[in-house]
Amino acid sequence: MTETTFEVVIVGAGNAALCAALSAEENGARVLLLECAPKDLRGGNSQFTAGAFRFAYNGVDDLKSVMPDLSDREIETTDFGTYTEDQFFDDMFRLTQYRTDPDLCEILVRCSFETIIWMQKKGVRFVPSYGRQAFKVAGKFKFWGGLAVETSGGGPGLVDSLSECALKRGIHIWYGARALELLFDGAAVTGVRIRREGKIQNISAKSVVLASGGFQANTEMRTRYLGPSWDLAKVRGTRFNTGDGIRMAIDIGASTAGNWSGCHAVGWELNAPEFGDLEVGDAFQKHSYQFGILVNARGERFVDEGADFRNYTYAKYGREVLAQPGHFAWQVFDAKVLHLLRDEYRIKQVTKVSADTLEALAEKLEGVDPQGFLKTVNDYNGSVRTDVIFNPNIKDARSTQGLPLPKSNWANILDEPPFEAYAITCGITFTFGGLRIDTEAKVQNTDYEPIPGLFAAGELVGGIFYDNYPGGTGLMNGAVFGRIAGKSAAKCAAEQF
Ligand SMILES: Cc1cc2nc3c(=O)[nH]c(=O)nc-3n(C[C@H](O)[C@H](O)[C@H](O)COP(=O)(O)OP(=O)(O)OC[C@H]3O[C@@H](n4cnc5c(N)ncnc54)[C@H](O)[C@@H]3O)c2cc1C
Repeated sequence: MTETTFEVVIVGAGNAALCAALSAEENGARVLLLECAPKDLRGGNSQFTAGAFRFAYNGVDDLKSVMPDLSDREIETTDFGTYTEDQFFDDMFRLTQYRTDPDLCEILVRCSFETIIWMQKKGVRFVPSYGRQAFKVAGKFKFWGGLAVETSGGGPGLVDSLSECALKRGIHIWYGARALELLFDGAAVTGVRIRREGKIQNISAKSVVLASGGFQANTEMRTRYLGPSWDLAKVRGTRFNTGDGIRMAIDIGASTAGNWSGCHAVGWELNAPEFGDLEVGDAFQKHSYQFGILVNARGERFVDEGADFRNYTYAKYGREVLAQPGHFAWQVFDAKVLHLLRDEYRIKQVTKVSADTLEALAEKLEGVDPQGFLKTVNDYNGSVRTDVIFNPNIKDARSTQGLPLPKSNWANILDEPPFEAYAITCGITFTFGGLRIDTEAKVQNTDYEPIPGLFAAGELVGGIFYDNYPGGTGLMNGAVFGRIAGKSAAKCAAEQF
């Protein structure tokens, strides 16, 4: 067994880990990142994202400092609106049923803008999220749902630019290096035991940051904590997030926090592979359901498709799909809204049927009772409030009336051929339960005291998300707390000289 020494060792090489590394380095530490994936599969879930970041901004001037190359033409033809800290707090409180840890949430929201600027200065390029978060109405784009910006090149662009910056700053990144356990002398963490190129090695460190993701890719843990049927969910992202960091910390007495039976899960292509595929990225998702209806094997609707903007419902509707008989559903649209469907509906790996009549479509919806489906559409079509104008940019209140399960916005009669339907199942994104940290990202023990030398950030931290999640907050959470963890770890290392 060989022994190597670094000041700060970071487990993982996704967004949270890379932000922690850059922050530790700028605070004077010699840093090593351990990534268990090979280089071509690096970057964890962060690599699979669209790079959408939720942060508070007070108008276009703030956005210009995040995106200095925003053109006058883009500004003229776009209503970016505002997304104030208060709106961000409201979204977090409402969606988590007021359970989010108030101290951690406060930091997430209040540090969101300065952290985006910090990332931009490190070399991450941001662009407006036109394709996904804004529709053009009367010649003008209007952003909705507090999510106006994504990284150039999406998740791969984000991971490339952060990794490149890390290497330029002399940060070491070891690919194919799996952390196995924390070295702990009974009082403090002193390093990490790893396996690299088939050999076990101890890495000594003055502090360790865990940023190795949740346990969504671990079928056994998923079933144990999320419950029956979760073994059958598809994993949207990396196969490497198997809860290792959480387990390693619990093994030395860390406290757990948050919603261990909860997770972020969406409607995902029925025939997608067991884990994410980097060639397809996030395009197995099907996120335009609010413009159609969702039906199960009985042909019945089971959620209010138009309850809110996509950003506020998509992360909890995967669970609803999993709960349906056979764990699948079909999204059904008519010709009026096909132009509003996101790009992911036009990839070749879709389970799609189309027909010129609803009766013909009913016969093609595999696994669905045709009579049940036709009755559902008939009832739904008879209930749409056609007196209200349809507008995809606002919650237009064009609802159904009189149905036991309403559709609250964007309801349109399904009557214009061709009709299209897409089959989905549940795709899990990440788990909500994890380690308990304080506001300096110090991991707490079961007596709620910091474990000296141990810090954590990103998906594996519990207590921030419960039940639901506002789109674009995962990356922001990793960046904010990664930056804090890196700074705290560097400070802890410096104090040991
Ligand atoms: C398809 C998809 C789309 C998404 N889109 C968005 C979006 O647009 N915006 C948004 O905010 N969020 C999005 N998310 C959520 C987002 O990806 C996560 O919240 C975020 O990336 C988590 O970052 P992280 O650094 O904590 O974890 P990750 O990026 O997953 O990094 C964890 C790292 O740890 C490594 N690792 C695991 N175990 C070990 C070990 N034992 N030793 C060494 N390394 C280990 C992994 O290989 C990986 O590199 C999306 C997720 C998916 C799957």
